[in-house]
Amino acid sequence: MQVNTTEGRVPVDQLGRTLVHEHVAVGFPGWYLDVRQPRYRREDALAQAVDHFARLRDYGVRTVVDPCPMDLGRDVELIALVAQKTGLNLVCATGMYAESMGISYSFARLRVEDIVEIYVKEIEDGIAWSGIRAGVIKIATGDGQVTDFERKALTAAARAARITGLPLISHTENATCGHDQIDIVTGEGVPAGQLLVGHSDGRDDHHYHLSIAERGAYVGFDRFGLEMIVPDEVRMQNVKRLIDAGHRDRVLMSHDTVHCFLGGLPGGLTQEEFQRRLPNWRLTHIFENIFPRMRAMGVSQADLDHIVTDNPRRFFEAGQVTQPTQG
Ligand SMILES: [Zn+2]
Repeated sequence: MQVNTTEGRVPVDQLGRTLVHEHVAVGFPGWYLDVRQPRYRREDALAQAVDHFARLRDYGVRTVVDPCPMDLGRDVELIALVAQKTGLNLVCATGMYAESMGISYSFARLRVEDIVEIYVKEIEDGIAWSGIRAGVIKIATGDGQVTDFERKALTAAARAARITGLPLISHTENATCGHDQIDIVTGEGVPAGQLLVGHSDGRDDHHYHLSIAERGAYVGFDRFGLEMIVPDEVRMQNVKRLIDAGHRDRVLMSHDTVHCFLGGLPGGLTQEEFQRRLPNWRLTHIFENIFPRMRAMGVSQADLDHIVTDNPRRFFEAGQVTQPTQG
């Protein structure tokens, strides 16, 4: 079994410690229109990302998934350069973002079959002319309800996941619509274990987490360090509650860091200001701070290793079990 990385296919048992949701760069639609923002310099973004990502090797991390959707300034060649300069495996994505925050206009006018074809092409032939194959499929829903466009994009993503065996990584808004995502994905015949319901840690709601785990999907505690949404203390308690309830196998952990916001953040905040407000929002935070605190709470190192190594591997394997071996 193989995983598509920017540098080619890697056997799934060589992924090692994996962060499933981090971004080299993100640009919200229209990011380049605010002429007051400093000019985007790709070489500076690359240098910064390489500096940050390289530190992961001290913590035994070998693979990082950057699930940037197609419409958030996705730059797979930049992601590939980070992989080449750090020696890490980087995995990039096909798929669209939520309607209210992405670019739905063109895709909303396509048929589901057209979108499936585009996603599968990005997985099998490569993204645009880069030759870099997507290794995960991104899906996204907005706050509290799934729009018609999102339903179409999710349906297409699920069909592409069924054809290719790739896992699906989702964005949820305020930890809502996780069950709608599971319904749509499993409704297309994709096992729930092929889906990571992302940003489930955005709500202090054990029953929500438990209900997702019980259906067999992965529960994303993937915003460690983003403490203005939920304090990490709450995230750690909720991870422990899932482990204690017997669902260690369904937990995935990451930070959702962004190393360069193209054109700054929506609302005019600069990268530096945002980072200053969130001192722990960095790639090594889980290993430096969260793991020791969770051990002090009584979670074993074996459980933590399982969550960052075995669970990502099984997540990538989930769809490939019944698939013919890819070359
Ligand atoms: Zn993200």
